[in-house]
Amino acid sequence: MNLISTLKPQDFIKASQEETCKVKFSNPAVQALRDQLSAVRKRVKGTDESRQHVRSKIWGTNLIFNPPMLWITINPADTQDPIAQVFAGAEIDLDKFCNLAGPNNSQRAANVARDPYSSAKYFHFIVKCVLEILFGIKKKSNGRIDRKEGIFGKIQSYIGTVEAQGRGTLHLHMLLWLADSPSAPEMKAALKSENFREKLVTFIKGSIRASIGDMTHEQVASIPKTPGVSYSRPIDPRTASVQESEESEKTLVWALQYHQCSMAACLRVVKGQLVCKRRAPFPRSTIDWVNKNGEWGPKRLCRFLNNWNPTIMRTIRANHDTKLILGGSVQTATLTYYITNYATKKQQRSSNASALLAKILAFIKKEERRQTDLNKINKKLIQSCANCLTHDREFSAPEIISNIMGWPDVYMSHHYVIIHWIEAVSALTRTFPGINLQR
Ligand SMILES: [Zn+2]
Repeated sequence: MNLISTLKPQDFIKASQEETCKVKFSNPAVQALRDQLSAVRKRVKGTDESRQHVRSKIWGTNLIFNPPMLWITINPADTQDPIAQVFAGAEIDLDKFCNLAGPNNSQRAANVARDPYSSAKYFHFIVKCVLEILFGIKKKSNGRIDRKEGIFGKIQSYIGTVEAQGRGTLHLHMLLWLADSPSAPEMKAALKSENFREKLVTFIKGSIRASIGDMTHEQVASIPKTPGVSYSRPIDPRTASVQESEESEKTLVWALQYHQCSMAACLRVVKGQLVCKRRAPFPRSTIDWVNKNGEWGPKRLCRFLNNWNPTIMRTIRANHDTKLILGGSVQTATLTYYITNYATKKQQRSSNASALLAKILAFIKKEERRQTDLNKINKKLIQSCANCLTHDREFSAPEIISNIMGWPDVYMSHHYVIIHWIEAVSALTRTFPGINLQR
C-alpha cells in the first residue's frame, strides 16, 4: 500500500515508454499497481485479463486429458439463417420453408441489425446445438457431462472463446480434446507408424475437406453463384440422396468457404508486400496427407477454398474452419494465445495502458488530496484505474447483450477450481513443519 501511494504521474510516463519498448517496468510501484489491476480486471467480463485467465484452464486441461486434437472456428450467419429471423420475430414457417417467401436479403439484415438480442440469442443457440447434437457433448446443470459419439467421435472436453468481428456478429474459436487422445510424446512416436498415419488420413478424408470432388480452381470459380444460400433449411440426411447432399454442400462451399482477399478483410503490408493474414492462397495437394513430423493437409485443388467439415457445413450453412492439431505443445501454445487474447485482434490502441494511467493518476491525486486513509485512497485509485482501462474496449451490441444476459463469453465443458499455491504451501508447512519444500 505504501509503495502504491508513492506513485506520481511521471512514473507512468516513464512506464509508458517502457511499455512501448516492451521492456519490464523498472519501477516496483508501477508493477505493484499493475498486479493489483490485473487481479481486479480478471473478474470483469470482456477484459484482456479475464481472457488470459482462460490460458491456465487450457494448460490444466492439457495436463489431465493430453493436448487438444481439433481447432474449430464457427461463424454463424445471423443475417442469413431463417432461425435468426424467427428469433427476430419474422413470420416464417420453418416446417414448410420457402426461401422466396421473405423477408428478403435487406429486410433480413435490417431485422438483425435492429435487434442485437436476437442475433446473440441465435449465436448461442447454434453453438449449443453444434456442441450437443453434432459433437455429442452436453454439460448438464449439475455439472455432469453427457457424451455420445459425435461427428468427430467422442469429445472429452472443450474450451472456446466468443468474439465479435468488425460488423459486430459473434463467432466462436474452440479447442476440442478427443476422448483417449495420446500425450505429446505418444503422438510423436505414433506418427512414425505408417499404419497410424493412414488412420489419420482416413479421419481427414471424412472430417476435414478443402476440395469439391476433383474440381480445379477454374471449375470451382465457374459454379453459378446462388444468392443467399444460407437462407435455407439443412438437407435432411435421413431422406436426401447422396447426390442431393453433395450438391448442397458444393453450392454452400462455393458461397461460404471460397476466400477472397481484400484490404478490408485480410490483406496486410509485410516488408513492403501485401500478404493475406489468413495465409491464402492455401497449399495445393492432390491427396489428403500427414507426415512423420505431424504436418498435414487436406486434398485441395483450388487454392482459395478454406477447410470445412461436411456435416457442419450442411447443417449450419455458415462459414467455418476445422483444423487438426498434431504439432504438440508448440502449436497448442500458439492457438491458446490466439484465442485468449482480445487485444491482438482489436484495433491497435493509440496509447498504451501506462499512458492512460498517467492521466487518471493526476486526476485522482487532485480529487483525493484531503483523504488521509491510505486504504481508501488506494482502493479508489485501483477502481478508477481499472475503469479507465475498460473505457477503451470496444463492444458490439450482441456482445453487450450476451454479457447482460449472462450468456457465456467462454464455453467450457468442465468446471475449474483455482488452487492458490502460496497459501497451499504455507498450509502444508504449518501442518508438516518438517516437510522438505525443495522436493
Ligand atoms: Zn486473404
